[in-house]
Amino acid sequence: MDERAQYRTALDLAKRALEYIAQFGAPPTPHAFELFYTVCAGQNAPLNEAVTKATSGKQKLSAAEVEKLYVDFLSPGPQSQQMETIGEKMGSEMTGLLSLLGTAASTANTYQASLQSAEERLNSPQAGQNISEMVRSLHAATQTMARANSEVTTNLETSRAQVEMLEDCLKEAREESSRDPLTGLVNRRRFDILLEDTLLNASSNGQPASLLVIDIDNFKQFNDTHGHVAGDSALRYVASCIKSNIKGQDTAARYGGEEFAVILPNTSIEHGMSLAERIRHLINARHLVKKATGVDMGRISVSIGVTMTEEGDSADSFLHRADMCMYAAKNAGRNRVLDSPDPKPDESPPNVEIDAA
Ligand code: GH3
Ligand code: MG
Ligand code: MG
Repeated sequence: MDERAQYRTALDLAKRALEYIAQFGAPPTPHAFELFYTVCAGQNAPLNEAVTKATSGKQKLSAAEVEKLYVDFLSPGPQSQQMETIGEKMGSEMTGLLSLLGTAASTANTYQASLQSAEERLNSPQAGQNISEMVRSLHAATQTMARANSEVTTNLETSRAQVEMLEDCLKEAREESSRDPLTGLVNRRRFDILLEDTLLNASSNGQPASLLVIDIDNFKQFNDTHGHVAGDSALRYVASCIKSNIKGQDTAARYGGEEFAVILPNTSIEHGMSLAERIRHLINARHLVKKATGVDMGRISVSIGVTMTEEGDSADSFLHRADMCMYAAKNAGRNRVLDSPDPKPDESPPNVEIDAA
């Protein structure tokens, strides 16, 4: 694309971004502009999906909603800043190590030269006369080398501790960047990677994997009735019910706003179904009560779609099938688990004929 065409495209994106801001009554802030500009450019699929979800069926997008979308999808975030700082520290530690090794190498060279010169003098005809002077100079050179060695060892020890500490920080930052801060479950980015890995493993070891997609029922109404803070606590409650039912190699993720997913490697559909049923039951078993006021908010329920890997599955097809099952569970009345996108209607048992007057 030439420069003029690029300019026209960018201008068009900017105009459309402003139209979106006006359409949803969003605050005309730089963050809102960047958010909608990116949406119009269509390069960030998860963001577009989240914005479509956030704006579906409503006319307004609040400043808080814009900021949440911005932080979730666009802002560089504290984690990446943390990564950058760790990277810088690692870099300076490496530079220090290199210069230390340079010094050590040059000390070793000097020592080698002293040994060489001593050897030459030993081989000379006057060796006998110079012997005590030679021993003195060799002793001095050896002492210098020993001092340098011990300095290098101490410095290397300090550097190693420093690098180990930075490695721990890096691990922690990486770990944090793959977690959802509200529930502590794996976030969607990490989930997508793990789902791909699971499919690869399933096809290489010939073992099936199962997938659960879990969506809270009528959660908008729960939020509207009890408030967002209670909604957030309910999300944490659901996450804890899921976590308490999985183990080992299973992964629970917060997949979207009020949607969760569980990857179950080496698991048949029957086991997937019974686990899903346990999770559904546990979530729905208890009343949620506001700690501060004792107000009973009733029970919440979830609809769960379950599917198992099929020959030739991609992450998309696998996830799509689980999603379809979850939507079928919604359509069938919610608070249930389904492993088929078009469940057969309940077959009533045949009538029994009995004697009667
Ligand atoms: P359905 O049974 O069909 O799933 O209905 P629903 O109301 O659960 O679904 P809908 O998609 O209409 O609404 C989802 C709601 O989830 C809207 C939003 O307020 C809420 N939600 C999403 N993310 C969060 C969050 O992080 N915190 C809170 N408190 N609510 C959230
Ligand atoms: Mg949903
Ligand atoms: Mg829902």
